Amino acid sequence: MTSTHTDALAVMRNAVASAAAVCSAVQSRLDSLRAITKDDKSPVTIADFASQAIIARALRAALGDDLLLVAEETSAFLRDPAHAAHLDAALTVLREVPEANWPRATAEDFLSAIDAGAADPLSCRAIGGGFFTLDPIDGTKGFLRGGQYAIALAFVKDGHPQLAVMGCPNLASDRTASAESPAPPGCVFSTTRGSGRVIQASLQGTGHAADTGVAGHDTTPAIRAAFAGVRSHRVLAESVESAHSDQSASAIIMREVDPAYTLLRLDSQCKYAVVARGQADLYLRLPSKKGYIERIWDHAAGALIAQEAGCTVTDALGAPLDFSRGRGLESNKGIAVAPAGGGLHASVIAAIRRHVS
Ligand code: AMP
Ligand code: MG
Repeated sequence: MTSTHTDALAVMRNAVASAAAVCSAVQSRLDSLRAITKDDKSPVTIADFASQAIIARALRAALGDDLLLVAEETSAFLRDPAHAAHLDAALTVLREVPEANWPRATAEDFLSAIDAGAADPLSCRAIGGGFFTLDPIDGTKGFLRGGQYAIALAFVKDGHPQLAVMGCPNLASDRTASAESPAPPGCVFSTTRGSGRVIQASLQGTGHAADTGVAGHDTTPAIRAAFAGVRSHRVLAESVESAHSDQSASAIIMREVDPAYTLLRLDSQCKYAVVARGQADLYLRLPSKKGYIERIWDHAAGALIAQEAGCTVTDALGAPLDFSRGRGLESNKGIAVAPAGGGLHASVIAAIRRHVS
């Protein structure tokens, strides 16, 4: 890892930790925010915009105004006068939560930070540079039901994620604890392509500008394998939402691979992290809607984290993920993640191919 990479990773980790603190604060005020905006989904909307703005602002402060960021949200919704209550509520959260480091946030600064995420990945590629991609809250359904969600940030260059940071504010740091039970403050994973290690740190006490610590523990491929190897059966991580992954197809496939398998249904990219640390053996995302194209921010960070922990990450037919096609994984269909070596990934892909043909 170069020192430039180490610096960028520290900036990314601090930014994600700040955003995670704000998301947690919003999650603890679900009812009051719903009452203010008279909108059931408003807490996730507010946290989503606040998270994107915090991360864009932190990246811009560290890396300059020519930052290239491809993020999920734009400010159009908040600029609409009909949504003034959402804008006000988001600003209040930004000013009040100390970890946001933004006590004097103004509407214009907030909206312009959100719009710093409007880069076009194909133009970034044309000028030969890399770009950051961000899902400010992945797993919005999980966020609203008090379950798992993730703040996922990656730096992509030459068609591959190169740096990844993923905050999981409700995922227990202890991999022997249940991943389904919310366990704030959760943890943050970070890695660099080619490093062969993933650092997991607690989100407790992180998020302040001065924090550059990487205190935590490493997962290497050997550590993951040793932990996963003591299980007598396979564990499959998949979406809670059946609209996001074909759960009946995955059941057919898993019965072929290991009739004794168990399920770990989780929202968000934290599925990649639980496979990376050996808590699950597989992550399958099998297309459930014809023509759906996966978004790069839904996978870039998680995919690199699983890969550096020694997993093979492909689409559901075994093709490598291609992050060079724009905002979508246009050349891919679904996702399949399993440890490299040992044959599990190959047998799952073979079972999927038999099932779809
Ligand atoms: P998960 O929490 O893994 O179920 O995934 C959440 C993500 O699923 C969201 O960020 C959406 O971008 C994405 N998504 C939305 N519709 C679909 C779909 N039909 N198939 C797969 N993913 C979807
Ligand atoms: Mg998402």
